[in-house]
Amino acid sequence: MTVRATTRGAQRASLDGTRADVLICGASFAGLAAARELAGSGATVLVLDRYEIGERQTSACACPRPWMEYMGVESSIRQELPFMRFATPHGSVRYRLPWSWAAFDYRDLCDRLWEQCADARFETAVVEGLGGCDEAGDLVVQTDRGLVRAPLVLDALGWKRVLGSARHQPPEAPLTRALEVHPPHDGSGDALEVWVERETVRRGYAWRVPAGGEARIGVASYEPRDHVRDPVVEHVTQLGGTAVGFQGNWVPHRLRPAAEDDVFFAGDSAGHCFPLSAEGIRTAFYFGLVAGRAMREVLGGSATRAQALRGYAAFSDRHGRAFGLAARLQQLIPALPPRLLTAVLRVIGVQPLVDRSFGWYLRQAHPDGLPQQVSRQ
Ligand SMILES: Cc1cc2nc3c(=O)[nH]c(=O)nc-3n(C[C@H](O)[C@H](O)[C@H](O)COP(=O)(O)OP(=O)(O)OC[C@H]3O[C@@H](n4cnc5c(N)ncnc54)[C@H](O)[C@@H]3O)c2cc1C
Repeated sequence: MTVRATTRGAQRASLDGTRADVLICGASFAGLAAARELAGSGATVLVLDRYEIGERQTSACACPRPWMEYMGVESSIRQELPFMRFATPHGSVRYRLPWSWAAFDYRDLCDRLWEQCADARFETAVVEGLGGCDEAGDLVVQTDRGLVRAPLVLDALGWKRVLGSARHQPPEAPLTRALEVHPPHDGSGDALEVWVERETVRRGYAWRVPAGGEARIGVASYEPRDHVRDPVVEHVTQLGGTAVGFQGNWVPHRLRPAAEDDVFFAGDSAGHCFPLSAEGIRTAFYFGLVAGRAMREVLGGSATRAQALRGYAAFSDRHGRAFGLAARLQQLIPALPPRLLTAVLRVIGVQPLVDRSFGWYLRQAHPDGLPQQVSRQ
């Protein structure tokens, strides 16, 4: 049975001296996917996050439906979006995708995932850094509730990569800045809409994701120095909505090592978020599941920690081409003359091309691509 601790304030007893077989730092998409993969392994799995599970949404929560099905969380879907609409100052196109976007409820999805993490234990704690290895070979992780030890540790803490050696510091780092609001919505619409308009954001895009009773409307700037608050307010006002429920974060747009100092990294901490689209939920699921699988191989005795780390890092590296292509498109598209971009969007809007390009995009992190064995591929 999963155990969820709700310790706050004075109730927060020390965790000093706690040891687990696996320590998962971060209880969002990547961390919960990894914990889910360890269910039934017999291992003691401790999951830490500074907030309660599902407490802080930092995304528009749009994910390809095939991934929602694979993770068994379809019940969290609030609106299905089989179309995408792209608008520029010179026109718009509407594509029917070969798959649908699913706009989901973050808390509900996290709860559904946590239900699948049998035997795992959850504690709220701020993870502060890595304190090296003890004599037994366990990694020592510093938290605001004391030192926690485990032979297998995953950093699923997002872009800050808290357990890594070199931290990214905005605005110098390769990070996209994203902010959105959540005005009420009547539930109409069947498209995830994207605007590529320089008057709104110089290098980036704006979006609207209808999600049942609310719309998630925001702006992402690939240039971290450009502020996005005013553009978000302007964009939502133009769409007739009100700027309520702000939420934002930095999103990485460059891959980083998926293993370092005996620690696994998955999701935004490893840069597992596609440049150009800034889509990082399914990639966090994908790499989180593979990290969980790699750790399970160590627990089962079929691999050493070093072999699992190597195999997992190699798996992550093999996706470098797709991430690199998306990064080049992220450079190219904002530089295209808007009329040319509009023409290109029209040309690729014929159905066979839409099927091909969006089919390729989905395959870059698809459940079918999950390896059976990670350590000895
Ligand atoms: C405005 C916005 C909209 C977006 N929309 C989409 C979208 O619609 N679809 C999509 O695919 N992607 C979207 N993204 C990107 C997506 O949100 C991220 O790529 C994704 O959340 C990465 O998942 P993760 O599990 O790696 O990290 P996160 O979701 O960032 O989770 C990290 C977890 O670690 C915890 N944590 C962080 N630091 C500490 C610490 N020191 N101690 C303890 N706990 C800590 C956090 O509380 C959090 O629970 C969006 C991003 C933004 C900013």
